[in-house]
Amino acid sequence: MAFVVTPSFNASYTTRREDIHLLNPCFELKIEKPFGNRLSCRPPIPRKPLVAMASNSVQSVALVSTLDPRNVGTSIMVNGCTGKVGRAVLEAAIAAGLNPVPVALGGPDDVGKILDFNGKQIEIHGPSDRESVLSSAFKEYPDLIVVDYTVPSAVNDNAALYCKVGVPFVMGTTGGDRELLYKTVDDSKVYAVISPQMGKQVVAFLAAMEIMSEQFPGAFSGYDLEVMESHQASKLDVSGTAKAVISCFKKLGAEFEEEQVKLIRDPRLQVEMVGVPEEYLSGHAFHMYHLTSPDGTVSFEFQHNVCGRSIYAEGTVDAILFLAKKVRSNADKRIYDMIDVLREGNMR
Ligand code: NAD
Repeated sequence: MAFVVTPSFNASYTTRREDIHLLNPCFELKIEKPFGNRLSCRPPIPRKPLVAMASNSVQSVALVSTLDPRNVGTSIMVNGCTGKVGRAVLEAAIAAGLNPVPVALGGPDDVGKILDFNGKQIEIHGPSDRESVLSSAFKEYPDLIVVDYTVPSAVNDNAALYCKVGVPFVMGTTGGDRELLYKTVDDSKVYAVISPQMGKQVVAFLAAMEIMSEQFPGAFSGYDLEVMESHQASKLDVSGTAKAVISCFKKLGAEFEEEQVKLIRDPRLQVEMVGVPEEYLSGHAFHMYHLTSPDGTVSFEFQHNVCGRSIYAEGTVDAILFLAKKVRSNADKRIYDMIDVLREGNMR
């Protein structure tokens, strides 16, 4: 995470950069132009999947580094792998040494398709034979972990199926009836990681915001908050992550209403004003929060800018490895989220 302090009255005020770096090498202090201007002249963003929190300090999402040898070969079934995130998850999982089983579940339009992932062929089955396909796969691969990146309307039915068969699963799909989802899993005692946000760095940032708001309520009292978020044009609602961060800023004392969020959905503005690389217009999640003191002399800025889907894919692989470990150790707790995965550490 980085944050930006903007002394608008003195452009040479950079002397505490080293101090801040000494306190926390992840923090970066830099001079910025005011909110509106700065958006139109941001530096180009590297043309690959990235996570950036403030300014142009970007972090590529790493692929495999250290894998517990016992996880190599863990069997996975990615349901919804004809879709964008499911496909990215399968690619990341294969790169991490996990073993996709040759079948997966898809929507009605996907039935009969055979996908090829690095030479591994996966046949897609649909609603009519999904229970028998899943049960047979679980019988043949008892270490199976299912991953779900489907559609909100399938969340509850799919979870009910996984619970009926008794197979552990990672639910990345958003929406559906979340209360019912948790109840279904709880009743079945099946192991699951459920998280509408699998980007572990974003989850860590959110957790840090929550801790800050709990420990320092009112620290930004009187500050003016501006929030801008940009997503692919098909996303109509306000980002759930933005809402969660805003609620923390409100606890910290900033005054803000959800309707004030600037939603950028126009591709032209996304490229020209926000700086979204063109190849990511159909898949990005940029967020910026800008706070200004009542007298306008101090400002803070937080950003998390995600291009593409690899951050979710890599976080999902971590969640799979985490869940496989919990199943092997017969852990008491059955339902986890990404905070549990982060707390466990040992990520690749
Ligand atoms: P997508 O539309 O590209 O893919 C969804 C796929 O699911 C499609 O191929 C569709 O044919 C298939 N499908 C439909 N009904 C199905 C069913 N009953 N069973 C199995 N497959 C079915 O969507 P996407 O962009 O890949 O996103 C998938 C989901 O993941 C969405 O809910 C999205 O909000 C969520 N998402 C979550 C995270 C996270 O971090 N948890 C990140 C990104 C997206």
